[in-house]
Amino acid sequence: MTTRYLTLLILTVTQVFLSFNSAVSQTDNHKKSSYHRNVILLIGDGMGISQLYHVMSATPDKLNVTRCTNTALVKTTSANDEVTDSAAAGTAIATGSKTNNGSIGVDANNKPLESILKIAEKNGLSTGLVATSNITHATPAAFVASVEHRGQTDHIARQFLQTDIDVFIGGGFNSFAKRKDNINYIDSLIATNYSIATSLDDLDKVHSGKLAGLLYPDHAPKMLEGRGDMLSKSTAKALELLSQNGSGFFLMVEGSQIDWGGHDNDINYIQSELLDFDKAVGIAIDFALQDPETLVIVTADHETGGLTLIESKTEKGKMVPAFSTGGHSGSPVGLYAFGKDAEKFNGIIDNTDIFKLILSSFGFNN
Ligand code: MG
Ligand code: ZN
Repeated sequence: MTTRYLTLLILTVTQVFLSFNSAVSQTDNHKKSSYHRNVILLIGDGMGISQLYHVMSATPDKLNVTRCTNTALVKTTSANDEVTDSAAAGTAIATGSKTNNGSIGVDANNKPLESILKIAEKNGLSTGLVATSNITHATPAAFVASVEHRGQTDHIARQFLQTDIDVFIGGGFNSFAKRKDNINYIDSLIATNYSIATSLDDLDKVHSGKLAGLLYPDHAPKMLEGRGDMLSKSTAKALELLSQNGSGFFLMVEGSQIDWGGHDNDINYIQSELLDFDKAVGIAIDFALQDPETLVIVTADHETGGLTLIESKTEKGKMVPAFSTGGHSGSPVGLYAFGKDAEKFNGIIDNTDIFKLILSSFGFNN
């Protein structure tokens, strides 16, 4: 507790000193613009409020997400279903438009949409995606691709190359290297100046430029099966690279497998994935403390498993998790914000509002 207080004190003193310094340099040189804005969006796939609250209650340490200062409740329905899938929900968050379940980056009439990542690119910002699934999986795909069906991973991988994304780290090496059309997209990535990383050690060696981190043939392994600190390391690496752009950046980080734990009705799978995701949240918040022009948003695309916390039959006074489905549910999810413009995230909002609020925080009029 004392260490924590001391760290806070040091951080505050440093911040005051830094802002004093930048105020001085701005007065010294009016022409030098110091305006930039960073947005770090962290999506816990399937991370409902019960999932989060269960882990909060079962863990002795405070979760990083509890450091967030503002909270909203987010409605998750898709264009054609009150219970969304990750493709439609990812599209709503990434583009501000509802679409049908299964569709990515297109509206309900299959018209391509522009994502916040592409808008950030267009405005000269750096952009990145980090996930613990194949990087062509629905959630990250919604930020770079426009396809009618989420299963069109060949098209999704191709569309990564048609985007000027700076950093992407996850699984999915085979989606780029071993393709049905026999085109080796790893060569194309190298030709367009990406460093390729196929292991965590490779990540350590990259300190500038564009990075394609394809760390596993398909999805990353579960935390319970030895994934280690892949998500934290990848998040830190993405921040190291993206923050070199003085104009700012957009980064989406996904804890992809909280959802898979929900589908399996496996509370240990959920808990281990959620705790891992929360470490990435901590890295994002620490970054925002160093650069106050940073907005951190933590949310979920939908709830998975219909998880409730009921009174234990065997231990009076204890609550235990109980699942009501092997699929997704229509329950709203929480949104937790920290940093610049965090106070704008309030009340009961729609998942499409997340896109609109990010757009307004960046100051883009699209
Ligand atoms: Mg996902
Ligand atoms: Zn799911």
